[in-house]
Amino acid sequence: MQQEATTDMQKRIIYIIIVVIIALSIVYYIFDPAEYGWFPGCIIEWATGFECPACGTQRMVHALLHGDIRTALLLNPFMLVVLMPMIALLTIAFISPKGKLEWLKKFIAHPITLIMLFLLLNGWWILRNTPLWHNFIATYN
Ligand SMILES: [Zn+2]
Repeated sequence: MQQEATTDMQKRIIYIIIVVIIALSIVYYIFDPAEYGWFPGCIIEWATGFECPACGTQRMVHALLHGDIRTALLLNPFMLVVLMPMIALLTIAFISPKGKLEWLKKFIAHPITLIMLFLLLNGWWILRNTPLWHNFIATYN
């Protein structure tokens, strides 16, 4: 009985996530966050002047939805290559029934995976605020 309630709750959450993803995709496809000021800005960048690991994600999504993978990679490669696949794997693990894809659930929750994510996140955060990254962007943009 309890398991059925959990399954119904999981289904509702999945439907809500799908509706939100579709709605946001439409908004980010139609409107370029670089051109419209009503998109949420970054509090960390506003307060410190440094870009956070997620800065550029909205513009990256807009570029990605228009098939411009090169621009998406230049705007935020960490979000595109590391975090979005991890979110996708996490979603798949979350919606899979109990007993299925246990290897994936163990991989996501494994301490080495979490340590690697932490190191990649902080490495990206440092790199993107260095002249090295800004020179790279200036060269390939
Ligand atoms: Zn930011």
